[in-house]
Amino acid sequence: MIVVMKSDATMSDISGVIKALESMGCKPHPTRGADRTIIGVIDARQGADFTQLEGTPGVEQVIPITKAYKMVSREFRPQNTVVNVNGVAVGGPEFVVMAGPCAVENREQVLTAARAVKEAGASILRGGAFKPRTSPYSFQGLGEEGLKILLAAKRETGLPIVTEVISPELVPLVSEYADVLQIGARNMQNYALLEACGKIRKPVLLKRGMMSTVEEMLMAAEYILSNGNQQVILCERGIRTFENSTRNTLDISAVPVIKRNSHLPIIIDPSHAAGHTEFVPALALAAVAAGADGLIVEVHPCPETAWCDGVQSLSLEKFNEMMTNIRAVAAAMGRPVRAAV
Ligand code: PEP
Ligand code: MN
Repeated sequence: MIVVMKSDATMSDISGVIKALESMGCKPHPTRGADRTIIGVIDARQGADFTQLEGTPGVEQVIPITKAYKMVSREFRPQNTVVNVNGVAVGGPEFVVMAGPCAVENREQVLTAARAVKEAGASILRGGAFKPRTSPYSFQGLGEEGLKILLAAKRETGLPIVTEVISPELVPLVSEYADVLQIGARNMQNYALLEACGKIRKPVLLKRGMMSTVEEMLMAAEYILSNGNQQVILCERGIRTFENSTRNTLDISAVPVIKRNSHLPIIIDPSHAAGHTEFVPALALAAVAAGADGLIVEVHPCPETAWCDGVQSLSLEKFNEMMTNIRAVAAAMGRPVRAAV
């Protein structure tokens, strides 16, 4: 439910409504806009009667939230949420590019990739230290050693780090190193992990499950927000369809749909969608044109020898080339690409 205040409502009108809601057992979330204040409410008690609020001083309208998800809905918070990643604003006017290897392999590989992606225009470094692999016999990641390597690359380049956390028990460890905790597609409905990430005070990158609807992704995000963490970035990374010429099918429509239904930033992962380097740049450009807030792209200094996802990882040269085109499309969209500082 949302209480829309009149544009001339006073501070005491607003605090009066907040107090009234609290006395009804609700948790009010006021947002002060340029013109008026709106107060989002999660219905704490079944059957609470909000009609009495209609006559309260300063109240213009009481609107029920129609969606199953509440805190992530645009009805609840009309303005875009901007997630601050150590000074890099995701969801603001600038388009943000995150790039780096699928998995951390060694110091040299990560540092080479970090320097090159920064030079090419990325402003956040990606790299998996804990890898959720389809086969138990595949490389599972370097673990904490990998996190230490990412931190060394961050110290040298100044790029914040996004890295995956695969279980609730690992949230404290990964939080020590990461600037953004990534929840992978395979874990989108791992509710214990979502709740654990809701209790931290660091941004979370939530990837869409490969067999999940947009609504299921928004419900997953609701777990994080309702546990107290509002800093969530959504990521569309391709879904399973009958089409098998790409690894997954990039659901580009998810971008405008999410923009309409949620205030959270949405970025695209063209690498896991395409599954092949050849198709990555086209999908990345489509993301910019569709109005996404950024990209997360796999880049490797030597894709042929990568331990993980080499076929879909761009070489440093290809990434640089792609970034030139991204800047052109972003400029056409009136949305500059954020440069690393
Ligand atoms: C990844 O980012 O390397 C990854 C495992 O992605 P996803 O969870 O989207 O498969
Ligand atoms: Mn990968």
